[in-house]
Amino acid sequence: MTCHSSKDMLRKLPAVDKLLRHEKVARLKERYPKNILLRATREVIDVRRRCILNGEVVSENDLTVEALADEVQMLVSKKMGWTLKPVVNATGVIVHTNLGRSLLPDSAVERIVAIVRRYNNLEYDLEKGTRGSRYVHAEGLLRDLTGAEAALVVNNNAGAVLLVLNTVAKQREVIVSRGELVEIGGSFRIPEVMAASGAILREVGCTNRTHLSDYANAISRDTIALLKVHKSNYRIVGFSKEVSSAELAELAHLRGLYCLEDMGSGSFVDLSPYGIKNEPIVKAELAAGVDVLTFSGDKLLGGPQAGIIIGRKEIVERCKKNPLTRALRVDKLTLAALEATLKLYLEEPVALEQVPTLSMIARTSDSLKRDAEELASRIRAILPGPYGQDINVDVERCISRVGGGASPDAELPSWAVSLRLANGSVVELEEFLRNCNPPIIVRIDNDRILMDLRTILPGDDKYIAEAIQRFVRSKKL
Ligand SMILES: *Cc1c(COP(=O)(O)O)cnc(C)c1O
Repeated sequence: MTCHSSKDMLRKLPAVDKLLRHEKVARLKERYPKNILLRATREVIDVRRRCILNGEVVSENDLTVEALADEVQMLVSKKMGWTLKPVVNATGVIVHTNLGRSLLPDSAVERIVAIVRRYNNLEYDLEKGTRGSRYVHAEGLLRDLTGAEAALVVNNNAGAVLLVLNTVAKQREVIVSRGELVEIGGSFRIPEVMAASGAILREVGCTNRTHLSDYANAISRDTIALLKVHKSNYRIVGFSKEVSSAELAELAHLRGLYCLEDMGSGSFVDLSPYGIKNEPIVKAELAAGVDVLTFSGDKLLGGPQAGIIIGRKEIVERCKKNPLTRALRVDKLTLAALEATLKLYLEEPVALEQVPTLSMIARTSDSLKRDAEELASRIRAILPGPYGQDINVDVERCISRVGGGASPDAELPSWAVSLRLANGSVVELEEFLRNCNPPIIVRIDNDRILMDLRTILPGDDKYIAEAIQRFVRSKKL
């Protein structure tokens, strides 16, 4: 392992052709596309060259065709792997934005396949035989389910808020409580979305308390609407007051203004029997007099990513004509999945059973405990005898979360399988699980790994047990 001058090392670096001819690389030609192999080979050599030029220490071994061929092999298989792939969600966060939010109901998955395999009437009016609108597809169901006069589906809720404000309030004032100027994460902040829409934000009240009179006193000739924003991902507790949508709508209408609401999650079902209080229900907010409501398709609704706008026909029709709508439009996959998901809501018990987001919320502690015990014994059984004692497998109580910025204070009592290592921290195990195929995403709490059964799907237990077995083996053998 002698160090050379960088010139020497650069000279030692094999040429692309030579590396391609090495038997390990040549063998890959049968399995992988030629251009991927070529790119990987060039990249491997390039990376080495840059290391040398940067003065990083490179050993002679690292310059051999052999070593580089191994790297080409690894890089090619990485390039050919998926970047978007299924994972096991053992975090207990049901609407986990980083893990793809809601799982689609089976009927929605089947509907996507049925629609995209064939031509369809996305923008074709079958009655008239003329060009139609894509926006009619989920509209009837949304009206029937909510009692709204009209509905429009766009790409996501952030887009829905932007579109409504741009349509209704461009260059006009919109009054919002200081307690509701929220940041949802991923750079969605109400003040910034309002600025982007062209609406002028007029803040009223205080962080913890806003009164109806604060809104009333702020109304001027420039005001066009009062906006209520669901606080989603945080709560103000203690000495606090917010104005209800009914009061806000009454004031707005008395003064000839619109009342708008960004609901965030937008549940169709009352989830308070399952411990989710304070989550407004779409139908109730509409009945309270709000003119236009927006909410997400993939939060508590449990459907595909979408932004749903419902309410007064006059406003929704103006939204449809706004040129921004074209930039925010939904595709046929979304509409197919949304229509199928909404259909399940026609019978509430069916939705609770078949919409995964709802059925996970509704799962009882008893059944979660049973699953936890089963997973724990499966893991214990698969651990190779002598190593079983190094890893502690337990079943314990834990708390699941709704996630997706919905009901941050709702604690769903659940059961988890916990893993502790007799010697050493679980950080390494967490990383190992995360790099498995499929990756297993867990929580670490108090130097133990918690795997919450609420979001673990049937069939996942096999992946989990095998991954732990592989970890133990890799440590010992
Ligand atoms: C989640 C959320 C949004 C953003 O919705 P997306 O569907 O993620 O675009 C906007 N407003 C509120 C109050 C939210 O909770």
